[in-house]
Amino acid sequence: MRKKHAYLAIALLLLIFVGCQKLDESIEPGLSNGNTIKVDTIGGALFHSIPYQHHNVIIKQVDDKYFFSDDIQISRRQFNLLRSGGLAEYTKPRSAIIDDFTYRWSSGEWRYLIASTRRTEILQAIQMIADVSNITFIELTSNPGHSNYVTIVDDNSEGTSFSNHIGCEPGNKELHLHSSQGVGTIAHEILHSLGIFHEQTRPDRDNFINVFIDRLPSDPTVRYQYNINPLSRGVGGFDFESIMLYPSVRNGVTIMERKDNTTWGFQRSYLSTGDIQGLAALYGDKFPIQGPTSFCNSATYSISNLPVGASVSWAVSNTTLASLAPSGSAVTITRSAYGSANLLATVLFNGNSIVVTKPIILVYKQPTITVNGGNTWGGSKFYIIGNTEPGTSYRLEVTTPSGSVYTALGEVSLDQLGKYWVRLYLTNSCFTEKLVHTSSFISVDDGGPIH
Ligand SMILES: [Zn+2]
Repeated sequence: MRKKHAYLAIALLLLIFVGCQKLDESIEPGLSNGNTIKVDTIGGALFHSIPYQHHNVIIKQVDDKYFFSDDIQISRRQFNLLRSGGLAEYTKPRSAIIDDFTYRWSSGEWRYLIASTRRTEILQAIQMIADVSNITFIELTSNPGHSNYVTIVDDNSEGTSFSNHIGCEPGNKELHLHSSQGVGTIAHEILHSLGIFHEQTRPDRDNFINVFIDRLPSDPTVRYQYNINPLSRGVGGFDFESIMLYPSVRNGVTIMERKDNTTWGFQRSYLSTGDIQGLAALYGDKFPIQGPTSFCNSATYSISNLPVGASVSWAVSNTTLASLAPSGSAVTITRSAYGSANLLATVLFNGNSIVVTKPIILVYKQPTITVNGGNTWGGSKFYIIGNTEPGTSYRLEVTTPSGSVYTALGEVSLDQLGKYWVRLYLTNSCFTEKLVHTSSFISVDDGGPIH
């Protein structure tokens, strides 16, 4: 009888346990690649530790709220993506992962409702972002009847301002403003809403900085502020000026440092070059460069919507490839060599420096040919490798000793003794059937049995 009760008690415990774990629905089947999740309970919150490379991504869970850091909440959907991220990383293209994880605001339109007393500062923060980005800010005066907007409220309860969402996630979206924090922090929270994470959480951060997690208290409530988000993307180099970067020293202890062991402070006054590039990567350039993606000899590029008072300077990433002749908001580029480069426009506007980049191809590039199996009796294969360009077609021609011509790529049987010629022609917007490669080889009798 006692035994039966014991079984019952175990069964009840199991039921309760399974009920609690339901939130977890645990580790998705795909996580058989060794990923496990450790869960700590501290002060009524659950801390999920998701292994990623040699890091732990720590997510704090309070009821059905998931915190990526103190000022960023992610949705349950995003939490589940992070849990399966270790697998997704190897099975999906990186851009798909990012798009799945962070929903963009449709057409770059950010809708907001001010339910805060700090209207002037909110509008200043919005202006700060509008000056340098392609975002359209649309103020609502009442609930529009859908969820694609953000309500901005005053809230001192959490000790910090925060965004309860990252990107245009379905559901209720709010920014909570703490009275001690000013315009720059409001802009910082709006960038979270637009889909931007903290600079120190980018997945490639270890290439740029050292992070000493061990110097923090072992309590995950602090450590999770230094999470990596494996499903995000670093745009450009690590930006030490970013409005999204934490200071490197915390309570007198160096938690992060540059690779040269120097530390940094932090700023909440302006959007840095990297912040602007991050927004441009998500929502397009504020000042897109107009012009062709490739050209033969010269081409003109321009910025068409340059506002009054703005100026632009032009540069090309590889000065050996082209020379520039700027003229106001336009530039004419003349090719001096073949290759690929970035055209860079730096727009100075309202005290901001906005760098716009456009990849250009100065056609053509010289492809390389390899011949596999030449100089022996039997089959031979021909390949074009490397340096091929989109928009260019290639035709390989192999002439046998008797004058027969093969034009298909692939195997050509060396069934005649003597000299074979290999020629490669290219056709693109600049050239038609331009001969770019000639080589030859001799087919000799190798003494094999078949004649
Ligand atoms: Zn933040």
